[in-house]
Amino acid sequence: MLGETTDDGTDEPDPALTAAGKLADTIRTTLGPSGLDKMVVGENGTVIVTNDGSKIIEWIDITHPVGRLVEQAATAQDSAVGDGTTTTVVLVGALLEEAAALRSDGLHPTTIIDGYVRAAETALDHLEQYERSVYSRHDDRLAQIAKTAVTGRWDDTSTERFGELALSALQAVEFDTSRLTLKSYPGGELRESVCLDGVVVDLETSSTSLEALSHPSIQTHDEPTIGMVDAEIGIEEPNHMESVELQDTTQRSAFQAHEQDRRTELIAQVVQSGATVLFCQKSIDEAVRTALVQRGVLPVERTRRDEFDVIARATGSTPVMAVDELTADTTGTVASVTERTVGTSQTLTLQGCPEEQRATLLLRGGTPHVADEVRRIAADCIDVTRVTLDDGAFVPGGGAVPTALAMDLAALSSGIPDRTQLVFEGFGTALEAIPRTLATNAGTDPLNTLTGIKQRHDAGAEAIGVGSDGHPRDMIAAGVLEPSTVFTSALQRAVAVVTQILRVDDIVRTTEDGRSTTNEHDHTHAARGGYPWAVGH
Ligand code: ADP
Ligand code: MG
Repeated sequence: MLGETTDDGTDEPDPALTAAGKLADTIRTTLGPSGLDKMVVGENGTVIVTNDGSKIIEWIDITHPVGRLVEQAATAQDSAVGDGTTTTVVLVGALLEEAAALRSDGLHPTTIIDGYVRAAETALDHLEQYERSVYSRHDDRLAQIAKTAVTGRWDDTSTERFGELALSALQAVEFDTSRLTLKSYPGGELRESVCLDGVVVDLETSSTSLEALSHPSIQTHDEPTIGMVDAEIGIEEPNHMESVELQDTTQRSAFQAHEQDRRTELIAQVVQSGATVLFCQKSIDEAVRTALVQRGVLPVERTRRDEFDVIARATGSTPVMAVDELTADTTGTVASVTERTVGTSQTLTLQGCPEEQRATLLLRGGTPHVADEVRRIAADCIDVTRVTLDDGAFVPGGGAVPTALAMDLAALSSGIPDRTQLVFEGFGTALEAIPRTLATNAGTDPLNTLTGIKQRHDAGAEAIGVGSDGHPRDMIAAGVLEPSTVFTSALQRAVAVVTQILRVDDIVRTTEDGRSTTNEHDHTHAARGGYPWAVGH
């Protein structure tokens, strides 16, 4: 264990290593399909229940600088790969634990750092032999990869459904995620989530009413023509009227006549352009809206900026700055516009966009928090699946690869004449933290499970890892597959942060009084009970 008193009883817990170790301890229990959830209590009393390592780390207020380094590594892993954050933190904890043991065996931090770097390079070289390839977008194994990325977040049926949903969304946009929109709405079950072809527009801020949509003249549109106005649609007051008090009836009726004329002009212009659906980025004068509906034009006001831009691209319409500029040339088209109520939100779905094939994943969750979480997990799952196709390589999951690499390093280490041999062995033991933790979390004995897995590997079955029941299982047969990059980048980040921590520690020790003073540490941290972070209440 990190920071334990050594045999001679003189070594004290190292605050830096304790900080990282505690963080790893907290996160460790969430690893894998049987990982437990954590309840994180935010400063304002908000409670979040999640199984996602990156989310937990994001929410914990980490105060120790070393804890912060680990946090940065995990966050970087999450944003670059979208998965493997818990793995990163577990590896950091295990590598530091082994480093502490090596140090108490008398190895200098520099020897450990150099050995770790060499061991990591060797491990990554060896990893290639366990890689397999995905050849096409239609490879069934992509669905298994998507599924593995979300394992442990929900029950098995939801995981399965979710993996398929993510994959079909990706296939709908030919794996070009810039054409895919993720939206989540509270007030529904996860299984009600669907992938729609096209663009979904929120009517939340629009006063477009359901009655307008069901108006007979609007219902008859087959292939709606889309007009877009990037400005307010209303009646500008004539300049000379601004300061005049409209007391006199002649003045008032002159003004009303002007308003009426202007409205008629605006409506005529819209109708002339052929637009049957009019998206306006700002508001539309109420009387104009009503009149447009009468003329068979569906007005949609206050369209969100991002959606407005997407609609323009997908339908091929050119937004104009004033209704007077709206002509047939500036309009675009879609196959259909339909209304859909999702939870408490009204939306319009534009299907069959001619200019850009788009898809929208409509995700559902019970509460706003769950809906958000669902969207985040979906985004990660989609990232991971896309990365696999870009990169082509995947490996069996469940700790099969780290076990195989640990065995490779153990075999190689016997040929190393100097003390680096011990570092290689320590590095291998640290890699085994992944299968050991998966077994512990699934409730089986980690040592027995690991021994069982290694025996099967020795017999040539290198895809054996920890099954979801905690027992050795063939991961390829079980469909537990993950992109190589999830593990390789987790390992690279973990080694980078560990060597950084070990190096910093080394400098502190030798510069404090110019000699190696392994017994002198900054005790301020231990005085706070050694906790590297505080969770605010
Ligand atoms: P991370 O944040 O590192 O992605 P996870 O909680 O997602 O952490 O756990 C990932 C680990 O769980 C990986 O080692 C992966 O191979 C393993 N895993 C995922 N699904 C399964 C499964 N069905 N059976 C066994 N192991 C699994
Ligand atoms: Mg994961």
